[in-house]
Amino acid sequence: MTADISILAIEAIILDLPIMRPHRLSMTTMNRQSMTIVRVRCSDGVEGVGEGTTIGGLAYGPESPEGIKLTIDQYIAPCLIGADATRIQLAMSKVGKSVKGNNFAKCAVETALLDAHARRLNVPLSELLGGRQRDRLPVAWTLASGDAGRDVAEAQQMLDLKRHKHFKIKIGRKSIEEDIGHVAQIRKALTDNATVRVDVNMAWREREAINAVAALADIGCILVEQPVSGIAPLARVARASSIALMADEALVGPQSALEAASERAADVFSIKIEQAGGLFAAWQVIAVAAAAGIGIYGGTMLEGPIGTIAAAHLFAGVEDLQWGTELFGPLLLTEEILTEPLVYRDFELELPDGPGLGVTLNEAAIDRFRRDAQPVPNLRMAR
Ligand SMILES: [Mg+2]
Repeated sequence: MTADISILAIEAIILDLPIMRPHRLSMTTMNRQSMTIVRVRCSDGVEGVGEGTTIGGLAYGPESPEGIKLTIDQYIAPCLIGADATRIQLAMSKVGKSVKGNNFAKCAVETALLDAHARRLNVPLSELLGGRQRDRLPVAWTLASGDAGRDVAEAQQMLDLKRHKHFKIKIGRKSIEEDIGHVAQIRKALTDNATVRVDVNMAWREREAINAVAALADIGCILVEQPVSGIAPLARVARASSIALMADEALVGPQSALEAASERAADVFSIKIEQAGGLFAAWQVIAVAAAAGIGIYGGTMLEGPIGTIAAAHLFAGVEDLQWGTELFGPLLLTEEILTEPLVYRDFELELPDGPGLGVTLNEAAIDRFRRDAQPVPNLRMAR
């Protein structure tokens, strides 16, 4: 049976965008950000956009921008062309049956379908998800230059601009002693209204993590994110810790969230729409955390503005967002790909009120940064 409003086309484009400074994590250094932008076109003329973005190609997780595009072009799009564009849960169930894993690609497509449907109904995406509990989200900033002096200057600038007062420092590349010295130097330089957390991105072994977390607590760090790999080791480090422990990489969907909650592996979950497998799956992770009394934090895969605002529409509906969010990905980019940039003001990200995601892609910027346009710039200019 042909649906009344069907999915006509799904397009995936890779963009390569410059960033403000190299972003140093324990597993890689990013010198640019690549994202797969997905556009869904429906038979009623409505279009939606989504985004699949990874951290450092394949350095952080099992999906890459190229893999996301290939999965969408070769597997997800053929499965969805002709499907009812208004039954998104049904569409994504169909995808789930023929495409295992590939959470980021699924999230990008689901976001585009949700954007289109919310536009069709002329409501913001947040209304389609049950309505907002807030119109603004607190946003932490990540200090990842690797240099304490530069990190302090950057944090001070963010405080002066009233953009961020919560700072997450990326550590795990250097020795533990050096890392703790680095964090202590930044903590000491900042005023008391600023908070300091760290993200180790699984770089430590269990025994050293237990000692290092205690040392971090002593210097005024309030939270340690994913110091070790795996749910059971994380749970043991959490039991020995006097400060909050956050799970991130261990959470790859609702099942892993349930396992982490059962093991009391963390005090806080960093919830990411892509890592969870989409907005609906992320909502299930949120429900597990809430039911288990685990704190909820709006995590980022360093998405550009599309993925970032999609996540913001979801987190706007969370009752207790005690730990805030880190939805700062677009601020790392030096180029704007929207016609109107997202609004970051007074330490918060404001949710737009327009239909769908409430944002519009700048087509000239998309043409400029799409990877398939790069090899022949002169030909494009001569056209
Ligand atoms: Mg993290």
